[in-house]
Amino acid sequence: MTIRLYDTMRRAKVDFVPADPARVTMYVCGPTVYGRAHIGNARPAVVFDVLARLLRHTYGPDAVVYARNITDIDDKIIAAAAAEGVDPKVITDRFEAHYLADMGALGVQPPTLAPHATDYVAERVDAAGRVTGMIPMIADLVAKGAAYAAQGHVLFDVAAPGDYGRLSRRPLDEMIAGARVEVAPYKRNPADFVLWKPSTADQPGWESPWGRGRPGWHIECSAMIAAELGETIDIHGGGLDLIFPHHENELAQSACAHGGAPLARVWLHNGFLSMGGGDKMSKSLGNVVGVDDLLAAGWSGDVIRLALLSAHYRQPLVWSEALLEQSKARLNRWKRAVDDVTLEPLDDLRFAATLWDDLNTPHALSIVSELVSSSPAAAKGALRLLGFYLPAHFDVSLTEEVTVSDQANAIVCNPLVDAAIAARTAARARRDFAESDRIRDELAGQGIVLEDGPGGTTWRRG
Ligand code: AMP
Ligand code: ZN
Repeated sequence: MTIRLYDTMRRAKVDFVPADPARVTMYVCGPTVYGRAHIGNARPAVVFDVLARLLRHTYGPDAVVYARNITDIDDKIIAAAAAEGVDPKVITDRFEAHYLADMGALGVQPPTLAPHATDYVAERVDAAGRVTGMIPMIADLVAKGAAYAAQGHVLFDVAAPGDYGRLSRRPLDEMIAGARVEVAPYKRNPADFVLWKPSTADQPGWESPWGRGRPGWHIECSAMIAAELGETIDIHGGGLDLIFPHHENELAQSACAHGGAPLARVWLHNGFLSMGGGDKMSKSLGNVVGVDDLLAAGWSGDVIRLALLSAHYRQPLVWSEALLEQSKARLNRWKRAVDDVTLEPLDDLRFAATLWDDLNTPHALSIVSELVSSSPAAAKGALRLLGFYLPAHFDVSLTEEVTVSDQANAIVCNPLVDAAIAARTAARARRDFAESDRIRDELAGQGIVLEDGPGGTTWRRG
């Protein structure tokens, strides 16, 4: 059985085959930190958190490198800092902390890597002598004839890759006509996009071959991916609105910089969350519901998480109070049924198969509904894999769990620890004490202490 994912590039569900199953790489474009996250922003965070958990469950807890960046240089950040009369870092530190707390409340684990754009502007040289960073990448694109400097700016020449528009499948003339393409006198082609732009003395900036300035948005992700994950990653994700221009531009410049190597094997995009009526939730439309507002109104993080996973990730999701009410009733019913049940290894093949089938969470949740009555232990394993918090089987509070990275790791390992405990219980039942001791020692080697009690075996971090 393989995981199948819907690849936006091929417009088809494809078998997911990572380049190296021992190092599965996923990059998801993260937040620009100048304001609180709304529930639409939380959708990709939760969806890709479930995917990261599934990949870890499938390939092993240490075999997945999931990077989600922080965009901490941006004109909206500069404007917010100017409005408050503070340094941009005051703004970005504040809203990054809010973002992590809000997503943590929804059970979103910190990604493996959280690169900050500002750390990747200047040249970096890694232990292997590899040079990365936005300025060297832009200089390389200029040297290769794929970018040009004009009036303090550096622009990417969309004619360079030869197949620009591949991901969004828009012909160039249509993109130029599109509202999001800014016409400027220094552009050769209206669709050319900014890699570098000049900064005034009061704006943040870096010295570069083109004067003091700062990067455009698209180059950030390409440079961070090259620095942290390599030229071609297994999965690149984000919301639908990122397909054009952001991902189109990322893939064009990365391919030009890397001799045509594709940026990603599979492109995944989540659908929009709206309040109904068709418009996606967005700050610019003013139709937003903050994650913090929902939490303050008393909705628990896992109820919000369940509501977000109730639709397939590629489908639109209409947000409503009724959806929250339904999710709350459903989760309460499930928790009552599974709270006191000892976890069993997740061996329900149907459940795994639905997740492997392009992350079909609504179907997976309907299987949980069935399992709750037929096999509560399996239901519990399924809920745990989906990232739900089950209080009776954690010895730490929710807040500790999501903010302390050790504990976050503990959650990552849960399905495997649980499987190991079940194997040990089976070994003891057949009086194979050598095997049961071996499993206990192996877990101890990973800092996991088992405790045998009348209700079965529990574990904690030693
Ligand atoms: P932004 O901070 O606007 O760049 O958005 C962060 C992430 O949230 C991106 O992956 C967006 O595609 C995604 N996103 C923004 N608005 C929505 C929405 N209404 N529904 C689903 N995803 C969204
Ligand atoms: Zn990006």
